Amino acid sequence: MAVKLFIPNVMWLWYKPRPMPAQIIDGKAIASQVEGEVRDALAKLPYKPGLVAVRVGNDPASEVYVRNKARKARELGIEGDELVFDASMTEANLLAEVRRLNSDNNVDGILVQLPLPKQIDSKKVIEAIDPAKDVDGFHPINVGLLHLGRPALVPCTPAGILRLIASTGNSIAGARAVVIGRSDIVGKPVAALLLQQNATVTICHSRTRDLASVVREGDIVVAAIGKPRFVTAGMIKPAAIVIDVGINRVDEKLVGDVDFERVREIASWITPVPGGVGPMTIAMLMNNTVTAARMRRR
Ligand code: NAP
Repeated sequence: MAVKLFIPNVMWLWYKPRPMPAQIIDGKAIASQVEGEVRDALAKLPYKPGLVAVRVGNDPASEVYVRNKARKARELGIEGDELVFDASMTEANLLAEVRRLNSDNNVDGILVQLPLPKQIDSKKVIEAIDPAKDVDGFHPINVGLLHLGRPALVPCTPAGILRLIASTGNSIAGARAVVIGRSDIVGKPVAALLLQQNATVTICHSRTRDLASVVREGDIVVAAIGKPRFVTAGMIKPAAIVIDVGINRVDEKLVGDVDFERVREIASWITPVPGGVGPMTIAMLMNNTVTAARMRRR
């Protein structure tokens, strides 16, 4: 009788397949796709939409942001203007300027770069902007419409984040999405947009208990905290999509809120910093300007 010997392949006991590193979501490439769409949309309009970026004072970061926004607008064929006022400007004068822009029919989009000098209440200024021209999507009317799931001008960074997630080809509907951070400009609007797309959404913040285990439930994780490399590999569910919104300067280098190198070994898709969410913000602002013009001038 033949004796069958079963010899286990011990090699299998030692071999642990290394997961493939996550694919990179290329924010620059997707932003230039959006810009191409904006160019196409502009070519079909019988007028040139106008975007005015208002800056008060000399904050160096604001200076760069506003200049880049106006420059990108002009590059794409939008009438992009930059209004710069002295740091000593009064709140009343800025409100008067906003009202003037509201009534200028050639202006389709108004954005006031934050932060404003301390003598000016930024809430009052945002509320003074005509919601139809509020291309930052910060006016309470637009915030309310967004949370009601109705058409609105949506804040640019969150709109860009949704576009990045869509670019992976994965379905948002039914996914568990965890947003870390609840700011008015990123966390809350991202959560509202994910909910609109039928994700099951959890918002975490500084008071969340056992943050790591909550984040580990996420098929999609959006980190908007402002703390370098705060999200570690141990917090990530295998094959999750990880979107890093953070911009932190560490030793003269820009780093995100996610420990990119280690999380990359666990996730299926990940955004780099720089080159992920950042480039999307201005592209979505241009998109919002075209949307605002179309809605207002139809
Ligand atoms: P923010 O207003 O400072 O909000 C940070 C959020 O993180 C808060 O909700 C805070 O919770 C939460 N948080 C802080 N520490 C935490 C902890 N230990 N555990 C859990 N949650 C914690 O920041 P933001 O304006 O949303 O910006 C977030 C980051 O994104 C920053 O790095 C910013 O520079 C960057 N950003 C990038 C872009 C872009 O275009 N790429 C645009 C906007 C912002 P509490 O509410 O409980 O305090």
